[in-house]
Parts: sequence; structure tokens; C-alpha cells
Amino acid sequence: MKTWMTWLCACVLALAVWPAAAGTYSQTRYPIVLVHGLLGFDKLGPVEYFYGIPSALRSDGAKVYVVQVAAANSTEVRGEQLLTQVKQILAATGASKVNLMGHSHGGPTSRYVASVRPDLVASVTSIGGVNKGSAVADVLLGVAPPGSLSNTVLVSVTNGLATVINFLSGGSGLTQNALAAAKSLSTAGSAKFNAAYPEGLPTTACGEGAYSARGVAYYSWSGAKPYTNLFDIADPALALTSLAFAGARNDGLVGTCSSHLGRVIRDNYAMNHLDEVNQTIGLVNLFETNPVTIFRQQANRLKNAGL
Ligand code: CA
Repeated sequence: MKTWMTWLCACVLALAVWPAAAGTYSQTRYPIVLVHGLLGFDKLGPVEYFYGIPSALRSDGAKVYVVQVAAANSTEVRGEQLLTQVKQILAATGASKVNLMGHSHGGPTSRYVASVRPDLVASVTSIGGVNKGSAVADVLLGVAPPGSLSNTVLVSVTNGLATVINFLSGGSGLTQNALAAAKSLSTAGSAKFNAAYPEGLPTTACGEGAYSARGVAYYSWSGAKPYTNLFDIADPALALTSLAFAGARNDGLVGTCSSHLGRVIRDNYAMNHLDEVNQTIGLVNLFETNPVTIFRQQANRLKNAGL
């Protein structure tokens, strides 16, 4: 009886302590700002771009802001739009810095802000970031090497993807400028951008970058499996766009080496480009760590680093 009572007391105590412990796992010192990629949106209708991620981070104690920048525009233009919103977030919260987490084109967009205003940024986390360009953009622009996927095929595939994203965003009409955006996401366009804003970039073809530059911590992670879920309507399109990489590892839209920035947490999750933000509506690889968990782990990493 005494043993049983002891066990019961221990359980009650554990239940009393557990919520407090779970509630601070993602409690970073500085607010977390989520930055969407190409054709992105913050939240339109019921669907969030970072599907289920802000609420998961908030329930773990993080302050989370989801920004909206131009769906398709140059990295510098998107970066200036992000900088304006970062200043607004700092004014609203009284925080001195933010932790930027950018997906896809959101990676370079975040890097722009960290480069021009390092005093306002504690860290940049690039998720499937287009840091050294994308072969998909090169093909769209007709500057891909011979033998790559045909431009005609890819334009039709990306139009299909745009339709999916347009459906998700409630027919917002944000998907009209895929070709224009491709210019800033091409290998040549990225190289030009990187020459001006080099912080955190690997200096070798596929290594890690500096873990810290001008007081900003740099991290990255990405998937490397274009087709992951039979029920996700986006997967067949990503399987096709992955052919643009001519055999090099990629997540369907971004090559593994291009995703590297600062400390590479992992670059081979069994995820495609949309899985990285828990899309389409939570349809991800059931045999891989859930992307929401990876966002929580990164927040915890920032917290433990005092950021
Ligand atoms: Ca998916």
C-alpha cells in the first residue's frame, strides 16, 4: 500500500512539474521571426505557410512572429520589407534583437537583414535555403547546362506547383511572378547577391560556413528526399523538379550544398522542400522526424546558446 501511495505521489508530482518543463523548451531570449519563401504567404484562410509551427513554438514558451514579404521579388526588396517588420517587432516587444528563421527564399532574405543590420539579429536559421541558387531557377531561365530538364517541362511543372500553392492560399493571386523571381534564385543571381552579403556562407563548395559572423549566429538544415508521401498532391511535381539537379542531392527545389549556411545541423532529412515547413497541411514523411519537432529543437538550441 505504501509503495503504491509513493508511486501515486510521484505521478502527481510529475504531472505538476511536466507542464512547466514543456512550456519553456522553446523559450528563446529573443523573439523568433518566421520568413516564408517564394510564392509564400503568412496565413490566408485556414492554412499557415509554416503549418502548425508557430503554435507549437508558442506552446513551448517562444514569442513567434510570422511576417509577410513579397511573394516573388528580388532578395534585396524582400530583405528591406523584412527589415521594416523586424523593427516593428522590436518596437512592439521591447526586445533588442530577433532570431530569424527563413525557409527557401526566406533564407537569403533573412541573411540580407542580418548583413545590413547585424545589431538587430541574434541568429539566422536557413531551412532549405536557396543560398547558392537553385538548378530549378536556372532551368526556368533557360541557362541550365545542356542535358538538364527541359525548360518547357519545368515551366509546366512549376505552374502546377503554383496552382497547388494558390489553392492553399485561397486563390490569392500571389503566384503570378514565378519567372521573375527565378532571376534572383538562379545560380548567377545568387552569386551576385552573395558577393555583397557573404556572412555565414561556406567558402568551400559544400562545407559549413562560419558559425558566427559580426555577432550573428548562423545555422541551416534541409531535406534531401523529393518524394515522401503518396497522399501529398505536391509530391509528384517535386519529384519532377528534382530532375533539374541532374543527380545531385536535393529536396525537389533546392540542392543540398546550396542549403548550407553557418553550422549545418543536418542536410539529409528524408523530407522534400514543402515537408520542411510541414506542408501540404501536415502531409510529411511518416518515417522521419516531424518538421515541427525540428523547429522546436532549433528553438531549444538557440535558447541554450543564450539567444
Ligand atoms: Ca509533404
